[in-house]
Amino acid sequence: MRLWIKDPLAILAFGAERGVVVEDGRIAELVGRGATPGRPVDKTFDAGRHVIIPGLINTHHHFFQTLTRAHPEGINKELFPWLEALYPIWARNVTPEGFRLATRLSLTELLLSGCTCVSDHHYLFPAGLEDAMDVQAEEAERLGIRMTLTRGSMNLSIKDGGLPPDTVVQDEDTILADCERILSRYHDPDEGAMLQVALAPCAPFTVTKRLMVDTVGLAERFDCKLHTHLAETHDEDEYCLSHFGCRPLDYLEECGWLSDRVWLAHGIHFNDQEVRRLGRHHVGVCHCPTSNMTLASGQCRTKELEEAGSPVGLGVDGSASNDNSNLMESVRHALMINRLTYDAATVTPLDAFRWATEGSARCLGRTDVGAIAAGMQADLAFYTLDELRFSGAHDPIAALVMCGAYAADRVMIAGKWQVEDGMPIGVDVDRLRFEHGEAARRFLETF
Ligand code: ZN
Repeated sequence: MRLWIKDPLAILAFGAERGVVVEDGRIAELVGRGATPGRPVDKTFDAGRHVIIPGLINTHHHFFQTLTRAHPEGINKELFPWLEALYPIWARNVTPEGFRLATRLSLTELLLSGCTCVSDHHYLFPAGLEDAMDVQAEEAERLGIRMTLTRGSMNLSIKDGGLPPDTVVQDEDTILADCERILSRYHDPDEGAMLQVALAPCAPFTVTKRLMVDTVGLAERFDCKLHTHLAETHDEDEYCLSHFGCRPLDYLEECGWLSDRVWLAHGIHFNDQEVRRLGRHHVGVCHCPTSNMTLASGQCRTKELEEAGSPVGLGVDGSASNDNSNLMESVRHALMINRLTYDAATVTPLDAFRWATEGSARCLGRTDVGAIAAGMQADLAFYTLDELRFSGAHDPIAALVMCGAYAADRVMIAGKWQVEDGMPIGVDVDRLRFEHGEAARRFLETF
């Protein structure tokens, strides 16, 4: 089946003024100004109302945190006190049912914002939630969204000098065995993969050095990506100096983590020399502008990192520090916070889109998504400019960012429509809202 997505209002691609032809889940052809498809098409979709961009890619999240949005114990705190307040609440209340609903809700929200490929850094494995990765794989498959299952881990609890409670950490053997099981079962390295796996010790203050090192060995064996939190706060700098006698990036290097297999969440507090080192090793950085502003953590040095050679992607981050899962909103926030650090001419809407598409794809190690070009996967997000907020807008691509687009009208993943008329295919949104809301109540009631 050859589908011509014809004559869009605007499209974020070179030489596709008359749209694209989709065939077998891929973009088969770009149709330039004054041209028609090279071969006959079976069907045409009139995109005259739509601004089309590559599907957005989210490279950092914690789905379970949607159950503690705007939680009274979390509001108005910076990262370490925020974590110390919320860890026990999460540890006591995350159930398998709640986790499934949180996963479904986050994936649906991301999809509705125009996101076609996601990763979730899940690091909480209390008793009963041992199959968390399997739940996420099922929910992603159900929704037809691409996902990098990011198997997190924590083995350093309060009694060993870490931050999390004893009940949510696992021992190293259990962690590595489950990582291997998940990799064998779900990691598809091929082009067009719907599921991939990355390994992700939570942060230097929640795992042992041995686990950091052994995780690299496993990732090399299965050729998968590595992920962790790094350089998010000054508290972390102090923790690393007092526990390891060095700065976070030095510690990461000691663990064998300075390579292009790695992408880091946040990456805020790097000095000039550290930025150059990251770039030299092509370590990716996921910029999380909304979370960084909410927790007053600081600003990622996006431009310097890119210039040094690091891919920079975008993430909404866990939903208790955002507190939603709308990646298009984070595109807007990325533009704004970066303009405060740099200037208006240096940071454009195209930069913000590049981070959320091409840059994110590079962080996840994918070359088949993140751009609209012949041969790429047909992952596309369609927005209309029909709402009042867009009235009077001139540049349609810039308008998505400047006027604050937040909901896609249509989303296509691997050539299949997964959102039509602003609604996700196969999800009862009202029911999901009700059930997730009910599941979240216990996080307040037992407090
Ligand atoms: Zn995070």
